[in-house]
Amino acid sequence: MSIKGKVAVVTGSTSGIGLAYARAFAAEGANVVINGLGDAAAIEAERARIESDFGVKALYSDANMLKADEIAGMVKLAETEFGACDILVNNAGIQIVSPIEDFPIDGWNNIIGINLTAAFLAIRAAVPGMKARKWGRIINTASAHALVGSPFKSAYVAAKHGIAGLTKVVALETATFGITCNAICPGYVWTPLVEKQIPDTAKARGMTEEQVKKDVLLAAQPTKEFVTVEEVAALAVFLAGDNARSITGAMHQIDGGWVAE
Ligand code: NAD
Repeated sequence: MSIKGKVAVVTGSTSGIGLAYARAFAAEGANVVINGLGDAAAIEAERARIESDFGVKALYSDANMLKADEIAGMVKLAETEFGACDILVNNAGIQIVSPIEDFPIDGWNNIIGINLTAAFLAIRAAVPGMKARKWGRIINTASAHALVGSPFKSAYVAAKHGIAGLTKVVALETATFGITCNAICPGYVWTPLVEKQIPDTAKARGMTEEQVKKDVLLAAQPTKEFVTVEEVAALAVFLAGDNARSITGAMHQIDGGWVAE
């Protein structure tokens, strides 16, 4: 109920988990700003599909999550066109898999930039409006890798542990303003991000791609099943609702039991 008529900005929502978030918020009656890279015609088709499927308004921001001014512009777009940025979901992310001694330095910088600094910049831009309206929901897509490490993912694990810290600090700073800030920590979710890392993981570990899926990815997940994007989106919808108003500064695992081991 509380989401209807609100405005959700979801970074990295042209694909995977982000697209599922945007569609789930739209299904609850929120207007949405989608963002991310990709083919312009395909993005426009997704944007239009959100409007026609759910009867809400959807805008696309082409903000690059490596550019501070573009990130602030994305929040501004929501405020100018829809009147607010009520729900901010920091979700854009990339992955590079490599042993630390060969880890590409610009790859490290891009992961820290997109997976961590972009969230700081978007939160920085969105919080003044949320404070003024005395309502806000900030949801950061972290990862099981915000809580535990895995070999060959130094930048990603560092960025996601950083997101965990950022989530806690923002929750504390905004707690008396009707704003919550939480992190969702998925295990392996079947999306293009996971699919693309399989060849490099196979190379780094000297395995076949099938072995990577079975013995590396799903080996970490006691359920032996990938999490679905819809399940992750349903958790975000709950966190955005009024029943979650006392849930803040928390890491929400949705990982088939991964970090319980
Ligand atoms: P994905 O590759 O399907 O989606 C990533 C999104 O980020 C895309 O929309 C892409 O265009 C966007 N993006 C990338 N670089 C960008 C940039 N510079 N500027 C703007 N947008 C950019 O991946 P996904 O699996 O849906 O991942 C979404 C989030 O979930 C990421 O933060 C990822 O770390 C996290 N996550 C994924 C899994 C998983 O198993 N798939 C598990 C835990 C956490």
